[in-house]
Amino acid sequence: MNKGFPAGMLAFDRLEAGPVEWSGRLPADPSMWDLGDVALIDAVEADLNVDAFTEGGVRVQGRLGAPVEMQCRRCLDRIVRKVEVDLDLRFDPDIGPEDETEGLYALDPDAAELDLLPALREELLLALPAFPLCTADCKGICPTCGTNLNEGDCDCRVDAADSRWDVLRQRFPQHPDAAEGAGSGSDDG
Ligand SMILES: [Zn+2]
Ligand SMILES: [Zn+2]
Repeated sequence: MNKGFPAGMLAFDRLEAGPVEWSGRLPADPSMWDLGDVALIDAVEADLNVDAFTEGGVRVQGRLGAPVEMQCRRCLDRIVRKVEVDLDLRFDPDIGPEDETEGLYALDPDAAELDLLPALREELLLALPAFPLCTADCKGICPTCGTNLNEGDCDCRVDAADSRWDVLRQRFPQHPDAAEGAGSGSDDG
């Protein structure tokens, strides 16, 4: 484990000696990351280069690699994937939280150290797919019987096709059902 940059905290006096490079693994502690429906299944690999940015600001460039588990939105299958994030973050002491935009964060001018984790988590959240799919052409599950249609067809799909035929039958009512019932009046008498 790399020392000098414990779990996302950067002390500013380290920057006085010049840029800081840090490579390491940030633990997959759910209380640190909280990615909603997405679960981290291993530590987040980080490659960071931290440098001064204007007067009192901090710029962080680098990369995150996060092995995550998600659920396919169509078939609900488990998806295990490594999400890669390119980072270019600026922490600016001259702006307030209301001025923050993507990649630009406010920095408390009085802070002695910067906790990078909230920003790293934010960037990771932004990099997660909004509509994760196991494959681009995932067929999903049958809404009627729940069969995973990637694994095979079910009978319900035939019914769905039949309902399209119903429209044609209404237009051309010549199927056997129309003849039935018309001549069955022999119960009287
Ligand atoms: Zn799927
Ligand atoms: Zn079905």
